[in-house]
Amino acid sequence: MAKPVGILGGTFDPVHHGHLRLALELIQLLDLAEIRLIPLHTPAHRHMPVASPEQRLAMLQLGIDNETGLLIDDREIIRQGISYSIDTLTTLRDELDSRPLCLIMGMDAFQKLNDWREWTLLLDYAHIIIVNRPANEAHIEQQEIAQLYSAHCSQDPYILQRSPAGSIVNINIPMLDISATRIRQLISTDQNIHYLLPDSVISYIQKQNLYCN
Ligand code: ATP
Repeated sequence: MAKPVGILGGTFDPVHHGHLRLALELIQLLDLAEIRLIPLHTPAHRHMPVASPEQRLAMLQLGIDNETGLLIDDREIIRQGISYSIDTLTTLRDELDSRPLCLIMGMDAFQKLNDWREWTLLLDYAHIIIVNRPANEAHIEQQEIAQLYSAHCSQDPYILQRSPAGSIVNINIPMLDISATRIRQLISTDQNIHYLLPDSVISYIQKQNLYCN
């Protein structure tokens, strides 16, 4: 079977080294063919991004800078409206035929999975990779999510290589303590953001006068 395709959705407002490092670590650890970074258009459960879809796409393009294995997928931006993962997974599954597909999310997002549209169907289309910081106890609060987890979780990450969808794998991985929220706050208070995100993205933010208030 072909190597799995990973997808990492988000606002990327802006993309930073936490996102990029996570994607590279997962490609190496799980032997993924690629990770597609998928910027959402309109979030279902949070405030609107500050930068426009076009600006967030441009920052992603600058940020990944032809890195092997990192790709941008703009289908949610093109689709417009609220971005639901189930819609994205449905179209990806059509395109990828029976190739393994892995939806990447943090444990914090997984804990709220039952807020997602048609959440019980997600595993029909993809595996779920839950990324967790080492030493972070993975206790799932909500009973229906805990049930889904125990019914589908696997201790063997190579299950991702052997089937197109349907398993949950929990990966402990070091994560850089960087958030887009903090970067926006630093910019709005005129503080230095070097080393938190690629220089090319910093130059773009400055040229576009983004996040200054
Ligand atoms: P914000 O602070 O605006 O909420 P963010 O920095 O969390 O943004 P998102 O675009 O919302 O960035 O994140 C996209 C995906 O990347 C999410 O799955 C999120 O969990 C993950 N992610 C964000 N920051 C990091 C990080 N420092 N290390 C690893 N993964 C991260």
